[in-house]
Amino acid sequence: MTLSYTTSQRTWDVIVAGGGTAGAIAGIAAARAGASVLVVEAQGSLGGTGTNAWVTPLMRNVSDGQNLNRGLTDELKRRLHGRGDGATDVGGNDNWFNPEGLKFVLEQMLLEAGGEVLYHTQVVKPLLTESGRPQAAGQKMIEELNATSVFSHDPRFTRHAPLATSRISALVIHNKGGLQALRAAVFIDATGDADVAAGAGVPFHAGDEDGLHQAMSLRFTLAGVDTARLMAFLCENGQGQESPEFLHFWMVWGRKSTLEPLFRQAVTDGVLLERDGDYFQAFSVPGRPGELSFNCPRIRADLNDGADPWQLSAAQTDGRAAIERLTAFCRKYLPGCESAFIGVVAPMVGIRETRRIVGDYTLTVEDILDCRKFPDSICRNHYPVDIHSVKGGAKLLHERDGEAAYFARDAWHEIPFRCLVPRGVTNLLVPGRAASSTFEAQSSIRVQQNCHTMGEAAGIAATWAAKRHAGEVRAVDVTALQTEMRRLGGLV
Ligand SMILES: Cc1cc2nc3c(=O)[nH]c(=O)nc-3n(C[C@H](O)[C@H](O)[C@H](O)COP(=O)(O)OP(=O)(O)OC[C@H]3O[C@@H](n4cnc5c(N)ncnc54)[C@H](O)[C@@H]3O)c2cc1C
Repeated sequence: MTLSYTTSQRTWDVIVAGGGTAGAIAGIAAARAGASVLVVEAQGSLGGTGTNAWVTPLMRNVSDGQNLNRGLTDELKRRLHGRGDGATDVGGNDNWFNPEGLKFVLEQMLLEAGGEVLYHTQVVKPLLTESGRPQAAGQKMIEELNATSVFSHDPRFTRHAPLATSRISALVIHNKGGLQALRAAVFIDATGDADVAAGAGVPFHAGDEDGLHQAMSLRFTLAGVDTARLMAFLCENGQGQESPEFLHFWMVWGRKSTLEPLFRQAVTDGVLLERDGDYFQAFSVPGRPGELSFNCPRIRADLNDGADPWQLSAAQTDGRAAIERLTAFCRKYLPGCESAFIGVVAPMVGIRETRRIVGDYTLTVEDILDCRKFPDSICRNHYPVDIHSVKGGAKLLHERDGEAAYFARDAWHEIPFRCLVPRGVTNLLVPGRAASSTFEAQSSIRVQQNCHTMGEAAGIAATWAAKRHAGEVRAVDVTALQTEMRRLGGLV
């Protein structure tokens, strides 16, 4: 039996699948660049992992003290700060934000720019046509650039993944109205899991050399915390704090956290399980006095594939049970938390890595360590390799630590536009955590501000492809894209 769908009479220049960290920004950038844009989002608000998985604050991505992600990221921060949902600490870190405030800011920015959003809607699959076109003018440049690509001589990719043969004509979506096909000239897959790309037959990698993904986490908050008392306790116990408004504390087994004896006691007392100490971290949240946001619990190691619906569902259950244990721990062992209660359990499980497309270029950890620059750069990164491995611990380091160019204070590497361009399809871009990168490289470039910048590049490029190049994303003049991003305040 085949399920039937209706086809909408409307058509857009650009449809963005997934209005998350990269997708919401892509939608805003595309609308500002003059495209008619629809953002299709599974949840009821924009922002994805930064809002619905409650991942806050933005991780710092700096070189020589300067933020590397500017453009729309700067505007987001200004708007968040303006409404009391963002803050800067005494160290000049302006990345603290309230995820609930971000939902409002992103929606306002998209609607003000003339973009549309369709909430509570799942993208089911792309509809494909053979491209049948001669390769676009930009193709030659891509092939020249690929002479240096790590995969240019790898038969696994050259044989199975031609640059572009298919074209997406529409996305079949599902919501309370049933199944419907929505048409556009260009599509942006910002689902984080490369749902559209995978459905279009784009080759992808998933997980590490053993197919294991980074750990998932279900984030939550505790409200009703006496942060002044908690701060005094933390300062007395070796985790110095700036003020009750900017708290940050942590414990990971074997990492010399001063809170480790407390966790050991809680395991002995039966309040925590051993694995609850694999990763524990908490932050205060601007605009929410007396509330802490936890970057944990880590989900059970065997549940690590966020693109597997059964594992994803089990992760929600496993995470909720762990939140009960962590709440009991905080109430019993952390002064100031005695009357704390659960404020938020994130509606979305936090997923660090699932599918990563094979694009026209695949970023590697060597590119990061050697601070490689690319002629088609669209983003600068200096965030470390940060693998939350289900094999144990968190890997922040690399064997070339200290020696590689990356470790200079003023270092950065670049992310080429080609990492957003999936093999096999003419009119699709993939910004965000599913961009083309190895497992290790993805753990570095996936942080939110890089997803913003990749989204901004994708939004402008998709608009130009739709309006000037009959949808062919490889035909976009990347030098002009860089100039435009700079004009909009970006550092590329
Ligand atoms: C637990 C955790 C902690 C982290 N800590 C930090 C941190 O402290 N700071 C930092 O900067 N980064 C952090 N990161 C990394 C960063 O938050 C993510 O890598 C980044 O937000 C991913 O952005 P994205 O746009 O690729 O995906 P997302 O933001 O997840 O967006 C994907 C969107 O697509 C929607 N979607 C998915 N599938 C479909 C579909 N089929 N149809 C319709 N919609 C769909 C989703 O609902 C979502 O809105 C963390 C990540 C995790 C998981």
